[in-house]
Amino acid sequence: TPFRLPTSRFLSISSISRFASTLVIAEHEGGSIKAPSLSAVEAAKSLDKENSISMLLAGSGPSLQEAAAHAVSCHPSVSKVLVADSDRFMHPLAEPWARLIQLVQQRENFSHIVAASGSFGKNILPRAAALLDVSPVTDVIEISESTKFVRPIYAGNALCTVRYTGAHPCMLTIRSTSFQVQPNSTDSKAHEAPISQVDLSTFEEDTIGKSQYVKLTSQESERPDLGNARVVVTGGRGLKSAENFKMLEKLAEKLSAAVGATRAAVDAGFVPNDLQVGQTGKIVAPELYLAFGVSGAIQHLAGMRDSKVIVAVNKDADAPIFQVADYGLVGNLFEVIPELLEKLPEK
Ligand code: FAD
Repeated sequence: TPFRLPTSRFLSISSISRFASTLVIAEHEGGSIKAPSLSAVEAAKSLDKENSISMLLAGSGPSLQEAAAHAVSCHPSVSKVLVADSDRFMHPLAEPWARLIQLVQQRENFSHIVAASGSFGKNILPRAAALLDVSPVTDVIEISESTKFVRPIYAGNALCTVRYTGAHPCMLTIRSTSFQVQPNSTDSKAHEAPISQVDLSTFEEDTIGKSQYVKLTSQESERPDLGNARVVVTGGRGLKSAENFKMLEKLAEKLSAAVGATRAAVDAGFVPNDLQVGQTGKIVAPELYLAFGVSGAIQHLAGMRDSKVIVAVNKDADAPIFQVADYGLVGNLFEVIPELLEKLPEK
């Protein structure tokens, strides 16, 4: 269990006094709001009972319109959907997005702005915070008051409780694994939030664009997304080669699981780096996490220790992964995985 540090006052401007009104920066894909953004709404809900929550969507084309249609009914707590329709937001580049958040904030004066702590939120929110001259609170895992938050530090080995005493808005990135969406929170037919188009006539972009969209390369896979999968099968350096990772892929297929990897496995070129779990990879908290040939370095544990059930297979009985595992098997993975593949039924 991580060590808890006492509350620290790390900012000292004026405090937030009025009822919360929160802007959730939402990410969408294929006409739907992405699951981590719905977790950001869950987090916003816990800021204040009286909180009025708006969702900001940006992009262009039919998929934006479909996402807006999804957004209006996707969560009963969302009272307004703000839509910014422009080619400038077609790609998640930080410069135009941060300017958009600044523009919306200047008009609406939200008390809080929340985004999920994925690559999208981590890219955009700090830049927007700089434009608004506030300091963001990142990686929040617990909200106890509208200005009091818990966040992990030292790669998840300690939890720090912080109170935000800065100026409006209080900007947060939240770990979506800590704010699970309740099943009855989505697709509420009875609820329909109004859509409001963001007037972009005064929108100013940075004159010098620091980044330019080049291309998106993604792998088509029928397996669930690593960040949201209910089961994750992870391989470490103990797998020894890219070829051997195919065994894990077969296992993942049988269990409808996502495949993860340690940084050592990624650095050795066994798998691409988007599979990396840990401090510098993805943070996951599935119902079942299976680790094969993973030693359990703290940087790896930082990305998976919140999993509900952890199963570890390692030939070294002293491997630190066994300290966090619910079930541990000291054995050779090259015998255990084929046996599991044989015994598990076909999907
Ligand atoms: P190893 O530590 O080499 O462990 C391999 C394990 O496989 C051993 O325990 C061994 O007993 C077992 N094994 C070998 N053969 C078999 C067999 N046949 N059957 C069963 N077991 C077997 N790491 C991450 O994973 N994610 C991160 O995000 C991350 N970020 C980092 C950030 C920083 C700043 C730093 C410094 C490091 C980071 N690391 C990260 C690296 C981390 O410290 C470890 O080096 C890494 O996690 C080790 O990976 P591993 O467990 O696969 O390899």
